[in-house]
Amino acid sequence: MAAVSRRCGTSEPPVTLGLPLPPVEPPADCEECAQRAIERAEAKHVGDLARAIDMTVLIKRHHPQGPA
Ligand SMILES: [Zn+2]
Repeated sequence: MAAVSRRCGTSEPPVTLGLPLPPVEPPADCEECAQRAIERAEAKHVGDLARAIDMTVLIKRHHPQGPA
């Protein structure tokens, strides 16, 4: 599930409204991802969705089987 189709220069946005990825909450005991979650929240706050998605991807990559 790599984001291979990401490219610049396309004016047409993807069909998805909002975040293309479901929100991923990191496990409470991972400080690294807690920081990413904070950064993601900040990125969303300023409308930087690309960065927010990057953070989600990093969290997912760090915990492939999910927080549960
Ligand atoms: Zn983590």
